Amino acid sequence: MQILDGIAVSAHIKSQIKQETEKLKAEKGKTPHLAAILVGHNPASEAYVGNKVRTCEELGFGSTLLRFEDSITEAQLLEEIKKLNADDKIDGILVQLPLPKHISDNAVINAIDPGKDVDGFHPITQGKMLLGQPSFLPATPYGILLMLEHYNINTAGMHCVVIGRSNIVGTPMTVLMSRNAQPGNATVTICHSKTKDLAAITKTADIIIAAIGRPRFVTADMVKEGAIVIDVGINRIDDATRKSGSRLVGDVDYDNVAPKCSYITPVPKGVGPMTICGLMKNTLEAAKEHV
Ligand code: NDP
Repeated sequence: MQILDGIAVSAHIKSQIKQETEKLKAEKGKTPHLAAILVGHNPASEAYVGNKVRTCEELGFGSTLLRFEDSITEAQLLEEIKKLNADDKIDGILVQLPLPKHISDNAVINAIDPGKDVDGFHPITQGKMLLGQPSFLPATPYGILLMLEHYNINTAGMHCVVIGRSNIVGTPMTVLMSRNAQPGNATVTICHSKTKDLAAITKTADIIIAAIGRPRFVTADMVKEGAIVIDVGINRIDDATRKSGSRLVGDVDYDNVAPKCSYITPVPKGVGPMTICGLMKNTLEAAKEHV
């Protein structure tokens, strides 16, 4: 069993991004700049955005963090996005989800200029991805592809089972794993909460990508010997042995599943850091387009 090490792979990719950024600055006088919008005080969202802003600094990108209280209206938020769309200094815009209930995710995502849609959530971005046209790829699925590529895992002909069908992870993942490319060329099954006898399906998988949001949901009896397991889930559970009283676990019962796998991602330090790499690569590409 080999651990797919998100920290090591992301360090490698970040050093490449840093070099390319220095070159872009020296040759074209252009510094990639990411704007992040955070609404409210959700601790997980605060941590994710903080990480993204810190990574910008590490890579030599500029960054702008716009913070708003939960009370901001949808109209006001759309106005802020308009301003960022019009600002030539800004290459990428990300809006940290979830948003408060009175604000429509779709309205906000649709308002972002597709040329600055570095999270890859806009309908035009996803439409282009679906048609195989050049586009930003949604950050988490992109990060997973970068991980598979780094370890030279040839997914052609594999049966890939994706559990979860969200617009930001599960659904784009199925598109990317089935496209005619490497990584890709897999035969893909998508599963969700209405899937019957999930274990019977996952047991036939050469590669399982779990994006469910349920702690340790994928158990050892659902996984065949030698499978590759990619765990996207980030779930906080109580743990009295920790000072904080809690810890993070994935959607996979790691301790029992890992011994059966050929490769597996841990949580944390697996897909999480790769998502940030996907976002940063998209921001660099956006900056190159904005020279
Ligand atoms: P969503 O809640 O949007 O989607 C969850 C999906 O899981 C849904 O499609 C749902 O099915 C499916 N599901 C729920 N219960 C079951 C079940 N019992 N059996 C089969 N399928 C089920 O979540 P996201 O895609 O946004 O995120 C998934 C997880 O990944 C979360 O833990 C999130 O925190 C994490 N995440 C991690 C990232 C990273 O960088 N590592 C980035 C983004 C997310 P249905 O559609 O039928 O409701």
